[in-house]
Amino acid sequence: MSNTKQKADAVICGAGISGISAAYHLAVKQGMGNVVLVDPREPMTLTSDKSTECYRNWWPGPGDAMVRLMNHSIDLLEELANESNNYFGLNRRGYVFLTSREERVEEYRQSAELISGLGAGDLRIHEDVATSQYLPPLAEAYQGQPTGADLVVDPAIIQQTFPFITDKAIAMLHTRRCGWLSAQQLGTYLLDRAREAGVTLVRAQVADINVEVGRVAGVSLDNGGEITTSNFINCAGPYLNQVSQMLGVDLPVYNELHAKIALKDYLGVVPGGVPLMLWDDPVHLLWSEEERQELAADPEMRWLLDEFPSGVHFKPEGAGDSPMLLALWTYDVHEQEPVWPPSFDPMYPEIVLRGLVHLVPGLEAYIGRMRKPNLDGGYYCKTRENRPLIGPTSVEGAYVFGAVSGFGIMSAMAGGELLAQHVVGAELPEYADAFRLSRYEDPEYLALLAKIDATSGQL
Ligand SMILES: Cc1cc2nc3c(=O)[nH]c(=O)nc-3n(C[C@H](O)[C@H](O)[C@H](O)COP(=O)(O)OP(=O)(O)OC[C@H]3O[C@@H](n4cnc5c(N)ncnc54)[C@H](O)[C@@H]3O)c2cc1C
Repeated sequence: MSNTKQKADAVICGAGISGISAAYHLAVKQGMGNVVLVDPREPMTLTSDKSTECYRNWWPGPGDAMVRLMNHSIDLLEELANESNNYFGLNRRGYVFLTSREERVEEYRQSAELISGLGAGDLRIHEDVATSQYLPPLAEAYQGQPTGADLVVDPAIIQQTFPFITDKAIAMLHTRRCGWLSAQQLGTYLLDRAREAGVTLVRAQVADINVEVGRVAGVSLDNGGEITTSNFINCAGPYLNQVSQMLGVDLPVYNELHAKIALKDYLGVVPGGVPLMLWDDPVHLLWSEEERQELAADPEMRWLLDEFPSGVHFKPEGAGDSPMLLALWTYDVHEQEPVWPPSFDPMYPEIVLRGLVHLVPGLEAYIGRMRKPNLDGGYYCKTRENRPLIGPTSVEGAYVFGAVSGFGIMSAMAGGELLAQHVVGAELPEYADAFRLSRYEDPEYLALLAKIDATSGQL
């Protein structure tokens, strides 16, 4: 129990990557003197250490706000990598989408032209292995790499570059300003700089937010502590709306549970240095005839014979020639209240592996022989249109930075910068309006929302 009373220029609720980036930008970049980060947990231990740690500037419309936000976030990540001797292991291997379907090739071309036109970089089309100038990715470099995307429609180029991929792939879209980093190291680096600039960390839960005459006056903690402040920033991840309710502000967000597996490729099926790779066709899980008959006879298991959606993907994990692969497949996500710790379907690793063999046939060697795959994950806190909330709320002095869904690591730098610009009243970038909570008061935006495919921006 603590009855301490203290004062702060700003209180940030939540020490995940969003709260840490907000603290860094307020203290280090905007020079705010006394910023307090409040969290009962160790920093980065709820959702931010469960991610696949990838980034991309390849985002669908409508409008260019997501592409601009991510391009800027990647600019800031690259600056930080230069300044820190790449402390957090940024690479630029890209994302590779593969298909065996003719009709998908034209869809690739059309969507790539659109996204390229939004500012994600040039589209290069490679139709013939003999004349193609396709540049395979470099494993570790993040500088001097192509941007935009390469659409490869000659299967010979795919086989030459990635010989372990199924020979059914007839086209590949390789988006280039994409890759991954160590989120934990990024969080540590930002928090260290923020602490040097005066940010303090309080291990407690925000229990209440005191509002006087319509504006933030302070925060009460579950250990009895009180902090007087006129700026409160909600970075509570999956608990974003729960914390916002303390202000009487309802946020249009919900949560989905996303899982991933870490699989040891001890037979060396996938070579080192490859990009994130995604099989973009619906599939049926690979079963033997005997297994198929058993499943068909069991009403509770029969669904495992159904068609599964496209999107199973993997990326190598760890430095150097680490044999670990991270693999994900969002075939069964739905809205749910966050419960911690979450529980996952024990069948998930088996299902992901039996889907992944369509992309990498050699992985069939692990069916029945996976060595203790690690299964974990966390909640995506999202808006329906899968765009973040960054900016003021209807209560003066109360801000939100969240609903960062499956992109909270990649958006952390530009999101934290934007949040800090709102708090100190600095000039805002052009994309600021696209992420304000007040966008839902705009009838034109609501009309646009009705037309958006809610899953289109999500990976
Ligand atoms: C399986 C998976 C894969 C992903 N892959 C990627 C990826 O490849 N790239 C990418 O960019 N993103 C990815 N993400 C998403 C990314 O991890 C999240 O968007 C991001 O970590 C969210 O960060 P956050 O700081 O907003 O929330 P969190 O990390 O959840 O932090 C919120 C913090 O708020 C604290 N808190 C809550 N309530 C209170 C309270 N009342 N008082 C004090 N503190 C409180 C919590 O304790 C927690 O520490 C993935 C996520 C998952 C689950």
